[in-house]
Amino acid sequence: MDLEEYRKRGKELVDYITDYLQNIRHRRVFPDVKPGYMKSLLPEEAPVEGESWDFIFADVERVVMPGVTHWQSPYMHAYFPALNSPASLLGDMLADAIGCLGFTWASSPACTELEIIVMDWLGKMIGLPEEFLHTRRDSEGGGVIQTTSSEATFVALLAARTETIRKVKTEHPELEDAEINSRLVGYCSDQAHSSVEKAGLIGLVKMRYIESDDKLSLRTDFLVEVIEHDREKGLIPFFLCATLGTTGACAFDNLREIGPTCFQENIWLHVDAAYAGTAFICPEFRVWMDGIEYAESFAFNPSKWMMVHFDCTAMWVKKSSALHRTFNVDPLYLQHENSGLAVDFMHWQIPLSKRFRALKLWFVIRNYGVKGLQNHVRKGVLLASELEDLVLTDKRFEIPAKRHLGMVVFRLKGNNELTERLLKTLNSSGKLHCVPASLKGKYVIRFTVTSSRTTSDDIRHDWNIIQNTASQVLEIYGV
Ligand code: PLP
Repeated sequence: MDLEEYRKRGKELVDYITDYLQNIRHRRVFPDVKPGYMKSLLPEEAPVEGESWDFIFADVERVVMPGVTHWQSPYMHAYFPALNSPASLLGDMLADAIGCLGFTWASSPACTELEIIVMDWLGKMIGLPEEFLHTRRDSEGGGVIQTTSSEATFVALLAARTETIRKVKTEHPELEDAEINSRLVGYCSDQAHSSVEKAGLIGLVKMRYIESDDKLSLRTDFLVEVIEHDREKGLIPFFLCATLGTTGACAFDNLREIGPTCFQENIWLHVDAAYAGTAFICPEFRVWMDGIEYAESFAFNPSKWMMVHFDCTAMWVKKSSALHRTFNVDPLYLQHENSGLAVDFMHWQIPLSKRFRALKLWFVIRNYGVKGLQNHVRKGVLLASELEDLVLTDKRFEIPAKRHLGMVVFRLKGNNELTERLLKTLNSSGKLHCVPASLKGKYVIRFTVTSSRTTSDDIRHDWNIIQNTASQVLEIYGV
């Protein structure tokens, strides 16, 4: 394909994408395919000769779409949102065309500089303390775009590990890094995302899961006990990942309590606000950030609720020097005239290379404005509260954890099997899509308002389907 054909095909593709998104509510949200469905639809070998675009593109509807879960659908209520938006799509289109890699300032100055500016904008938009911003002269703080929240948590854990090993070695220079590493212990609540467990696994550090309270929040009483116990055993507490907006029930750990404990115990506090972070653009939802000043690092996914499509994880740290010490390698071919003066994001992340993700973030923030983003969040929260009200009117159901933001968890009263069967039947209908969670042994259906296209009518439509399906299930079980 030459560039002139690209011009034509690109316009056609934008038309296809626009139609796809405009009509997405008419597609089955959850596909009806079995593992391996695609094998019989495509040849076993790659084509030897190049194929025409018409021939290639015809396979999108024939081969790809039947197996797509339509995450932008108004009936998508599984996981957390992974929203896109026109401005975001255009941002990546341009970023992909520019195709620069922003590992150092010199590798493409605009890539680094826009990321710095946009991360400061976003940090201010969600009310982060100034120490997390690049602009504050007397601090080493700043924001960086990582790929995922999992990666941000791992980066924070690695930085915490570096800092702790350094500190212990000043007192015990005879100790090897590996010996200190083997005594490190990190903490999170039993509601934390599995990515925290993964960070511990790959960082080769012990991770303790502290029992959450009846609101599914991490509180200090248990935490302090566990820390004391670990110290008595000769372990070194070094890292705690608090969650604002847990995956299971959108519960919030209590930073105001945990923060001072981390400070006194010299523990790096990382805050994972993967989903809920977007809500902090609205001042009324910042109550959950109370105590954020104790955090060393904070991350959330604009790629979830903020309509900046995947991948885009905003991470801020107070001490970028800790990241430098963790990731700094300095081969000659990466040095440039401004090394040490300008920000080189390769020292802030695991990979060397970096996409120009700041562009889509910048486009979205400018296109919606703070007000537009606030309206989007408030609409999602309102729709979730509408579903909550509907669930509460039906005595067969219960809501075992308080609704927060755009997510409602509910279940049929009685044993877990009923709700499991309900969810299975709902998903196989393809009319709406949810996933489950287990909250202290209770199987629940998580219903997240994910799509910017969901309306009040859709919520009532979904609730109708849920109620009718529940009647069928209860009849089967003779309840
Ligand atoms: N943390 C929380 C609270 C999450 O809910 C999720 C995913 O939904 C993650 C981390 C992992 O996000 P990512 O896919 O960006 O690694």
